[in-house]
Amino acid sequence: MLFLALACSTPAPAPPPTDILVVVLDTVRADALGPYGQTLPTSPQVDAVASAGVVFTDATAPSSWTWPSHAALFTGEPPWVSGAHAAQQDEGLELKADLLLVTPMDTALPTLAEKLGAAGYETNAFVANRLLAAPLGLTRGFTTVEHTPQDSEVVDKAIASLSNESPQFLFVNLLEAHSPYETTRAAWSKRHDLTTMEWSEPYRTEPSGISFHQGPGITPLLRGDTVLDEAANGVIRDLYLGEVLVMDQSLNRLLAAWTATHPNGAVVLTSDHGEYLGEHGLYGHSATVHPEVLDVPLVLWAPGVEGGQRIDTPVQLQDVFPTVLDLAGVEQDGWSLLDGIEGVPRPGPILAAAWPRVHLARDVGGVFTEGWRLYRDGDRSVMVGTNGTVVGDPELAELATQAIPMTLDGGGVELDDAETAALRALGYVE
Ligand SMILES: [Zn+2]
Repeated sequence: MLFLALACSTPAPAPPPTDILVVVLDTVRADALGPYGQTLPTSPQVDAVASAGVVFTDATAPSSWTWPSHAALFTGEPPWVSGAHAAQQDEGLELKADLLLVTPMDTALPTLAEKLGAAGYETNAFVANRLLAAPLGLTRGFTTVEHTPQDSEVVDKAIASLSNESPQFLFVNLLEAHSPYETTRAAWSKRHDLTTMEWSEPYRTEPSGISFHQGPGITPLLRGDTVLDEAANGVIRDLYLGEVLVMDQSLNRLLAAWTATHPNGAVVLTSDHGEYLGEHGLYGHSATVHPEVLDVPLVLWAPGVEGGQRIDTPVQLQDVFPTVLDLAGVEQDGWSLLDGIEGVPRPGPILAAAWPRVHLARDVGGVFTEGWRLYRDGDRSVMVGTNGTVVGDPELAELATQAIPMTLDGGGVELDDAETAALRALGYVE
């Protein structure tokens, strides 16, 4: 009943504010998780939330890496509106070492944390991905933003912040599934010994992992000069899915504490993008728009919402923005996931875009020399490159170009030394 009142746009008595937890499982593609068809037991905690809550079976991120996707989550707008995407520079320009190759999120756009703060919420963010650190601007509006690279510490800090004070908006970003993929205690992961696998040498990281995010081995791999066979790709998949299980265990600890302090608090579980595990000859993520990097999990539990539902209407990551406002009883005029649960289809096509990455365009070439738009309407879809390449339904190409104004310009965000070193380690700056 509470839910019906929230979903309705006509004025209703103000409901008590709902505590809200949003968790981004960074780099987790939907099919890595049980509710999306994963057959390995990678996600007992996500499975439990999915059973009690609502699974959106067809959720698409508006871009394929952390920066633009989190901006979409926090502003409700895709990257071609928020302005947050990969920066472009002329080929002749020397890349600055202290420049993060992104364009900043539009400072005029109100953020979720700002809106909830104005509505009286306590707003805290605990993040493992360095791109979400407060100085870079994406987490604008949170009262507290704490970055720490280890998921376990992120969860510790998030748990320490919990109190019975209400209402609370808590945002947590967990990064375990991001490359490098370490060998983990998951049965399907620990059976592999990378030191006996010659193919893994160019990608090996200490102590016992592999990375497809940086390193000298990646360029020939992405260029197609090196091709890994199915057995190697199977090992990569196993290691990645082992990391997903470790992340799920962190989530378990977080949710146990959250539900103890906020038994009626809403929970949204999602991801910012997926990951290539050899499909299309690709590894890692960013700069392209195939489903492997755009299909993300989206699971909602909220008081008054009937559990066990699977909603098939296509949705996008940025729909979390109006949904959280609905849950908070803050007025908004967009389509929210609560409307989707009510059977109202999401208006418009599914859209995504990925701007070219300067270093990939230069070093790898091929698909990386173009920016890419995705346009999907029902069963029809097309990917359109900024150089004119069309993959998929050619009849949709013009619509894609019209729907996604994609300019290839923009500067970069200047960094201090500490931020530069940290981001270089993640492969974001040269
Ligand atoms: Zn990410």
